[in-house]
Formats: sequence, C-alpha cells, structure tokens
Amino acid sequence: MLKVDDVQAMLKRCEAFHGHLCMGQVAGVRMAKKGLELVAAEHIKDLIVMVENDRCITDAIIMATGVRLGRRSLKFYDYGKMAATFVNQKTEKAWRVASRGTSDDGLPPDRAMAAALAKADEELMTWQRVRVAFGPGDLPGPPERIVRCSRCGETVLDYRDVPTGQGQADPLCRACAFGTYYQTLSEMDAGSGSMA
Ligand SMILES: [Zn+2]
Ligand SMILES: [Zn+2]
Repeated sequence: MLKVDDVQAMLKRCEAFHGHLCMGQVAGVRMAKKGLELVAAEHIKDLIVMVENDRCITDAIIMATGVRLGRRSLKFYDYGKMAATFVNQKTEKAWRVASRGTSDDGLPPDRAMAAALAKADEELMTWQRVRVAFGPGDLPGPPERIVRCSRCGETVLDYRDVPTGQGQADPLCRACAFGTYYQTLSEMDAGSGSMA
C-alpha cells in the first residue's frame, strides 16, 4: 500500500527536492498522506494525482506520492487552489483533498510549521469523494494516437490534435488551431514594425 509512514522523514526529502522547508511542504505532505490513505493504492501504477496549483504544496505532493508529470501520473489544473485529487485507477476510487489554508497565526515559521503538524487532519483540510472521467489518451501507457500537424508538421500525441477536414484527414496541433502562448521573433518583428 502506498502511504506516508514518517511525516518528518518525508519533510526532509521534500526540503531537499523543493529547496526549502515551508508551510507548503507541511500542507502538501499531510494532504498526500491523507489522499493516499483514502484511495489505498497498492502500487504506484494505480495512482493518478491532479494538482490544482503550481506552488509549494505541489512539490510536496509529488515527492510524497511518487507521481510524475513525465509518467502521466500527475495532472496539472491551473486553478490556483490548494487542493489535489487522488485517484486509484484500479478501484476508480477518487478523493479530492483541499487545504483549509495555512495561516501562520503570527508565529515564527518554525513554530507555525510545528503547530500545523500537530493539528488533526480535520483542522488542516477537507476531503470528499469525487469521480474523475479520464478522456482518451489521458492515462499512462504507450500513446494511443500519434499524428503530424498538417500546418507545422510537428508530431502530436495522445489525441491532443484538433481534427479538421474530411475524416480527420488534416489534423492541427492546438498551437496552430488556437494560437500559441509564445511569439516567434519573426512574428514579433512583423508585429512591432521593428527597425532591427
Ligand atoms: Zn516552499
Ligand atoms: Zn501545428
């Protein structure tokens, strides 16, 4: 069974991975411990975790559970919330665990963290049973679909392409279909009428 036996030892590992010990590590380790207890996954291959922010607690959850973005066992939802959902793929049991917030009560950091660690689960977080519907190509394992974008020619895995044309003949990558989060330097030059 996957579990966090020793919170203090896990916090040491989190400190090394994350770069500092902070309230986020305390909250993340306790949330991971609770989440693992709730879903009772036998093996790391059975576990998928959705995190809802990309701050301190996420590093602690990654460390304490063993899920990894590159193994597709970690999913990131950019909600800006201190919460994570733990899924046992084998039993389809899923629990969402949310932090109640990590107030330091005006204490120095060391004492605030010690105080938080001494609290009961109910004081630190809430949890509820949920269902998570995974889409095609969401789960670990070899890619089920690999296509080449008909505009930029780059490869797109796991149904992340946007089908276009007759019989999905001309798939587009999301960047070509919806626009990119980046601009190339030539786009910037064209946009600004640069003299460079
Ligand atoms: Zn931190
Ligand atoms: Zn493309």
